[in-house]
Amino acid sequence: MDAAMIGKIEKALQYSQEPDRLHINALKVTFKGDHHDHLVSYNDGTWHCDCSFFKARGVCSHVMTVERVLAGMVEPAEAVPMPA
Ligand SMILES: [Zn+2]
Repeated sequence: MDAAMIGKIEKALQYSQEPDRLHINALKVTFKGDHHDHLVSYNDGTWHCDCSFFKARGVCSHVMTVERVLAGMVEPAEAVPMPA
């Protein structure tokens, strides 16, 4: 392996210890649920999930899980208040 590539790998190892360098703008995640797979997406601070709970409440366990895994790199989802 050439010296330039070794230098890049070393830099990547260093950067990977500094996750605050990363801000995620968009992503799509297939979430393996207990009963069904769900598609979670995130685009410029807006979350979406194809499950029925998200449709009613604007957040769900699938979105919350991805938020936790990517903590500090994404904006939190805003829950919709429970209907009266
Ligand atoms: Zn969901």
